Amino acid sequence: MTNYTEFYRRSIEEPDAFWAEQASLIDWKEPFEKVLDYDSPPFARWFVGGVTNLCHNAIDRHIANRADQTALIWVSTETGQEETYSFSDLHAEVQTMAAIILSLGVKKGDRVLIYMPMIPQSVFAMLACSRIGAVHSVVFGGFASSSLASRIEDAKPKLIISADAGCRAGKVIPYKPLLDEALEHVSTRPAKVLIVDRGLAAPSMCEDRDESYTSLRREFLGATVPCEWLESSSPSYTLYTSGTTGTPKAVQRETGGYAVALAASMKHIFCGSPGETFFATSDIGWVVGHSYIVYGPLMAGMGTLLYEGLPTRPDPGIWWRLVEKYKVTAMFSSPTAIRVMKQHENESLFEADLSSLRSLYLAGEPLDAPTGKWIHDALRKPIIDNYWQTESGWPILAVANGVERMNSKFGSPGLPMYGFAVRLIDNETGEQITVPNRKGILIIDGPLPPGCIQTIADDDERFVRTYWSEIHGRYVYSTFDWGVRDEDGYYFILGRADDVINVAGHRLGTREIEESISGHPNVAEVAVVGVSDSLKGQVAVAFITAKDRSAVATGDGASAQKREILKLVERDLGGIARPARVLFVPALPKTRSGKLLRRTIQAICEGREPGNVATIEDPTVLEAIAEAVTAT
Ligand code: ATP
Ligand code: MG
Repeated sequence: MTNYTEFYRRSIEEPDAFWAEQASLIDWKEPFEKVLDYDSPPFARWFVGGVTNLCHNAIDRHIANRADQTALIWVSTETGQEETYSFSDLHAEVQTMAAIILSLGVKKGDRVLIYMPMIPQSVFAMLACSRIGAVHSVVFGGFASSSLASRIEDAKPKLIISADAGCRAGKVIPYKPLLDEALEHVSTRPAKVLIVDRGLAAPSMCEDRDESYTSLRREFLGATVPCEWLESSSPSYTLYTSGTTGTPKAVQRETGGYAVALAASMKHIFCGSPGETFFATSDIGWVVGHSYIVYGPLMAGMGTLLYEGLPTRPDPGIWWRLVEKYKVTAMFSSPTAIRVMKQHENESLFEADLSSLRSLYLAGEPLDAPTGKWIHDALRKPIIDNYWQTESGWPILAVANGVERMNSKFGSPGLPMYGFAVRLIDNETGEQITVPNRKGILIIDGPLPPGCIQTIADDDERFVRTYWSEIHGRYVYSTFDWGVRDEDGYYFILGRADDVINVAGHRLGTREIEESISGHPNVAEVAVVGVSDSLKGQVAVAFITAKDRSAVATGDGASAQKREILKLVERDLGGIARPARVLFVPALPKTRSGKLLRRTIQAICEGREPGNVATIEDPTVLEAIAEAVTAT
């Protein structure tokens, strides 16, 4: 085993040699001529001239050795269905789907928009697009028609694949009417719509335009569709960012570099081996779903578990029972999901036999130390916080236990991953921060490693303008996150760069205050926002959901807990960080991917229009927030 420091150093100082080695983890139809072309920065082209295919690497190349091994496990606690597909089953289904898509007029390079629930056909559709060189754009199935419409408008797909309905908490949510409504509001419509009818909500079909998957599947069953071989930098897919900070951006990714990046991450970060089972609890509508429900595990020859349902239904022990039943070796979830579980803590929560599980990976949001410790104590397995973005496609910060076994630190997503030249810069002077424990903006020196954003779809100019700046003649990519590095090189994320609060000239990350508050035993979740204040510039306001609500139900109870919380912040961060107000609320507004919408809360506090509510999980939560803000 190498040591990580050397592994990382090589990735940055000798990228050609390093990535050429990693590239041998996948199958190439034609070898590449050049590892990296960075002649027109910040645009990077990896593995120039190499020819490959994502679907081939995810499925076909396993057929020789593990055709009968499990590739896809589908569990729906919504409909009570459970299905297992071997690599050879998946191979057949994907080819059938590919034949259907081709029959609907889709060609190499065309975009296909996928608006689907968490069912096997969604995975078939993604892989089928990759197989024929079509560019998929998956839109989260939980979005309502206006969010869907703006993404259709932007993506201009040749074909849309959807379903009759999704299901959430036992309630059927018909998708087809939402799609039809969205299509009313776009300027260019696709010629064809393919509908998977699950038998949940009979879809009304539009003649000439809408096609039934069930009947076309019958027609194309047993079809053979060879992989379309693609040049390494041909786009593999586009995917919208979560929209936490504003209008989502259509991240476009390449083919060869993405395949290499995923295969490498499965080995070095997720430590997966063929025949094992990977369980990512995300949704195919998000980047974690693309990289670690669909492509990554399959490329590694692992079975992947696709779960439709809530983490708490029929009870909060459900995921752990699935770990036992399918012998899951690596699980990938989000801090939000773990916090929900923590709220439902009871003796039977971890009853299942978790001996197969080696590590739990968590990403998407800061993992506060108390939640990290809680789940660590419950599982007694490494909890691996990892930091990345839709743009990066795979972890930027983590620990690479497949290279060298390293400890995680609670509250930190760890070290820069190989290939990412991560630095902190002072956001006023742009100078690099070299001393430990000083806050700055997290940036990455270009070129970004393989697998990262290639451009914003159809908008190179916006890509450059949004993410890149030239500092001392060098292109640097901004993550827009604010962080700090400790003496050991571990990074801590302190919040979004624009979430930094300026209280009487002191700069504080909202995350630091949240971290401190979440140390209070009765705090389930907390969001801290900066609110403009005529005297101090900004003051911090904390919104808290309590674990035990009855303890804060009375004025006296709430006051007592507020005092304790303020004391805690004062102890950890000093008086300057004390929130001006602490408010208990029934719930916090989040995006559909479970991210806190601090900016929406801030808007309410400052009496502005919240905006961007289309991405919100539950809009009624905002009313309670507004009420808490105005109550004295
Ligand atoms: P948008 O860019 O559209 O506003 P978004 O940034 O929320 O939305 P994503 O790409 O899904 O969209 O999220 C990436 C962001 O999530 C990171 O920039 C960071 O702020 C946060 N994040 C992800 N993982 C972690 C982590 N482990 N610790 C702290 N923050 C994290
Ligand atoms: Mg972002």
